[in-house]
Amino acid sequence: MKVLITGGAGYIGSHCNRYFAEKGVETVVLDDLSSGHREAVTDGCFVEGDFGDRGLLDKVLGAEKFDGIIHFAAFIDVAESVAEPAKYYENNVVKMKTLLDAAVAHGVKHFVFSSTAAVFGEPEYVPIDEAHPKKPINAYGATKLIGEQMLADYGRAYGLRSCSFRYFNAAGDSSDGCIGEAHNPEHHLIPLVLRASLANRAMKVFGTDYDTRDGSCIRDYVHVEDLAEAHYLGLKYIMENDGNHAFNLGSSEGFSVLEILHEAERVTGEPVPHDIADRRPGDPAVLIASNKKAKDVLGWEPKRSEVQTILRDAWNWEQNKKY
Ligand code: UDP
Repeated sequence: MKVLITGGAGYIGSHCNRYFAEKGVETVVLDDLSSGHREAVTDGCFVEGDFGDRGLLDKVLGAEKFDGIIHFAAFIDVAESVAEPAKYYENNVVKMKTLLDAAVAHGVKHFVFSSTAAVFGEPEYVPIDEAHPKKPINAYGATKLIGEQMLADYGRAYGLRSCSFRYFNAAGDSSDGCIGEAHNPEHHLIPLVLRASLANRAMKVFGTDYDTRDGSCIRDYVHVEDLAEAHYLGLKYIMENDGNHAFNLGSSEGFSVLEILHEAERVTGEPVPHDIADRRPGDPAVLIASNKKAKDVLGWEPKRSEVQTILRDAWNWEQNKKY
């Protein structure tokens, strides 16, 4: 089996590339390195370039037969998407259409798509299942929802089978410390908490006046290696089953920001210096996934998504980062 992985030098994409390679899948990573890292591509072939470049896609997809495309490449910063929506519609929608057209033209039959919990917007209930209304409240979520809708339409019209995964809070790093999370700038809670410990410099807790058990926001953290496995199971599923499918991926357990700080202190043995700050605009109080559908349909079972395991892997990575 052979797959093209766009954004395979990025955080989730690089873990997925490794996982697929371990399963004996041949991979070609296509990444322009605008935010990914060449060192993160530990397996398969690497092509540096833009996933929206039709000429390049024709060359890559025309050279050999691909069984599927796993599409990670995207812009993902919520605040930036609100300030610069044009950039997000161009990359996450227009270029994705180019990629889909190339897939159809070259007879690629299976497409696995990185979506997001941001497609749901403000939760109307938790845990959030796949039937929850989809009303994104920022351009990032809107572009990902359009991606899902394009897949459904391309599926009906051109027979492209697909599987979209709505990640909740991707976290953790490879269990052997080889690859990990390296966003620049980093906005995510867990790396910032651990860096605050390492540097003995205060991080900010964005709001302790939410209607939650300790006033800070509750999120569902899911290990990046568990996400990688879901992509493999998703691809296998659409190779055996027709249609266009979407799954929520989370641990189905919620931890507050302050609980993460305390768990981090237990893992590192170090205090996490922090200040209480104002709410960050656009943060819902609680986001927790129902992962029942992924479990029931794909047989997915998160293995490393306990918060202690995530924090242990992340602590190891933060202390011994390779890039
Ligand atoms: N958060 C925080 N301080 C930070 C970064 C994040 O208090 O420096 C909070 C943020 O407000 C949210 C949670 O941690 O409630 C998770 O945020 P993150 O950016 O990691 O993921 P998101 O839920 O936005 O996808």
